[in-house]
Amino acid sequence: MIKSEIYCSKCKRKIEDGEEAYFKLRYPKKKGFTEIKAYLSNESRTICTNCCDC
Ligand SMILES: [Zn+2]
Repeated sequence: MIKSEIYCSKCKRKIEDGEEAYFKLRYPKKKGFTEIKAYLSNESRTICTNCCDC
C-alpha cells in the first residue's frame, strides 16, 4: 500500500483522512489507475476548506 499524504497547496496543512478538500486535476489519460490518493498527490492541486472561497 502506497502511503500518500496530501497537503493544501496554499497553507501547506495536511489533509486528514475523511476531511473535505478541493482538487483541481487533470482527468487521467490512463485507464484503470487504482491509487487515487497517489494520483491526487502527484497530479492535482489541493485546496483545503479553510483556503477555498468556493
Ligand atoms: Zn489550506
